[in-house]
Amino acid sequence: MKPRIAHGVQSLPSSGIRRFFDLVATLDDVISLGVGEPDFVTPWRIREAAIYSLEHGFTQYTSNAGLPALRTAIARMLAQTYGVEYHPESEVLVTVGVSEALDLALRAILNPGDEVLIPEPCYVSYRPCTTLAGGIPVGVPTLAEESFRVRAERLAAAITPRTRALMLNYPNNPTGASLRRANLQAIADLAEQHDLIVLSDEIYADLSYAAPHICLASLPGMRDRTLLLNGFSKAYAMTGWRVGYACGPADLIGAMTKIHQYTMLCASMPSQQAALEALRNGQGDRDEMVAQYSERRRLFVRYLNEIGLPCHEPDGAFYAFPSIGSTGLSSEAFAEQLLREERVAVVPGNAFGAVGEGYVRCSYAASLADLLEAVARMERFVRRHAASPARTAVTATSQ
Ligand code: PMP
Repeated sequence: MKPRIAHGVQSLPSSGIRRFFDLVATLDDVISLGVGEPDFVTPWRIREAAIYSLEHGFTQYTSNAGLPALRTAIARMLAQTYGVEYHPESEVLVTVGVSEALDLALRAILNPGDEVLIPEPCYVSYRPCTTLAGGIPVGVPTLAEESFRVRAERLAAAITPRTRALMLNYPNNPTGASLRRANLQAIADLAEQHDLIVLSDEIYADLSYAAPHICLASLPGMRDRTLLLNGFSKAYAMTGWRVGYACGPADLIGAMTKIHQYTMLCASMPSQQAALEALRNGQGDRDEMVAQYSERRRLFVRYLNEIGLPCHEPDGAFYAFPSIGSTGLSSEAFAEQLLREERVAVVPGNAFGAVGEGYVRCSYAASLADLLEAVARMERFVRRHAASPARTAVTATSQ
């Protein structure tokens, strides 16, 4: 029998997190710091806008690029917040989450064999989506001792004549690291010098605690080589609504729209109506959620450091990425044993790239009570598994 699955899909690794979450589902009394989504329900006014739109019979397709009012609201918000101007008609595309925007962007720009620089640890979809689009993912490490910030020198060292694009994500999933103006300027200079397109996944932009978010496209010269990807999932607690957007120069957005119109047609009407309400009147609700994440971050990161899981201060998003070196366990062993012994779910760092080995991702999008209980359980676990110096040394040399 001929193989039924395409080679590219056959060879695609399954998500490293899936096996782990299958196990979580079989256990009781688990505190999950594993999932990458807000613990809040979408603010009521946003839900109500969707209900209203359904009641009034808005049940049709929208235009391929998205509701004109939503595209206008997105462009207005970006101009006001970051000073970046996009034409709603030709430079804004509403998508089914940032997930679709990412897929469209890669498919629109890559020719077979083109290389995409991907700073790691990174969001789990970047490598597979690059491969599915015919590209070659090239991992570039970010390091704890550099606060996991992307460094232009490291990117430069990975550039070849086949390098076509750079995938950026800040604030970052899983490290929480963001980028300051000097970092961004150095990256922008590199992109300019090597004529790279930058896919800038800024989905956690509104969840920036340490310093205000700087939009890459706002740097001189970058608007025309940047595809800004953002959405509503994180800032407005709207993961299940599946709505996001891409903004960029008209040629790139036009190419993405071509694929989108044949594959997705449009994002769902009620979700777009809800997203419009989020932009029009949802800022207060968003800011309240952000204030809570900020408070949880402060406490949770301090406690992780105190119990022997050293953790840099995350700039944004809702993840802490502590080192588990003190236990001598691999990331997977740590996550699995912590789950079995103490019923706390975290994600092994190597799910986000090989450089994530030695770390775990803990989401603090959980109630303070759960976070405090999780820390108490983790402390017991870390004490029990404190590696003897000899054992640490053996582990270190065997990796
Ligand atoms: N990018 C990053 C960095 C993410 O963490 C996520 C979700 N976890 C996404 C994109 C996908 O978001 P959406 O719900 O908008 O598809």
